Amino acid sequence: MKNEANNKAKQIEDLKKKRARLFEEILAHEDLMDGTFIERYSTCSRDGCKCHDGDKHGPRYYFAVTRDGRQKQHYVRKGNKDLVLAGIDSYQQVQELLYEITEINRELIDLEDDASNLS
Ligand SMILES: [Zn+2]
Repeated sequence: MKNEANNKAKQIEDLKKKRARLFEEILAHEDLMDGTFIERYSTCSRDGCKCHDGDKHGPRYYFAVTRDGRQKQHYVRKGNKDLVLAGIDSYQQVQELLYEITEINRELIDLEDDASNLS
């Protein structure tokens, strides 16, 4: 019984170490951006412009953020396209890390529950 308790304590310790590492990884994603990237082509109001024959203007880039069900689109200059895309990618990686941390916390709740039952 004592061995089993030690084993659980070790598992708990390992999970907490892993969780600390995941939090450190999150810190490397300062550039994260929670939103979507939009590429848009448009037509203008000038008579006889090529855009009315299918050769539309663009692309113009936007970064769309949704809060409380309302979407806001922010114009993105061409030179900033890659920064915005990297930020969106970073956010997705943080989401994956948060998922892993959630799994660890769930396991910890189970293990710590078992551990207290053993003592
Ligand atoms: Zn046009």
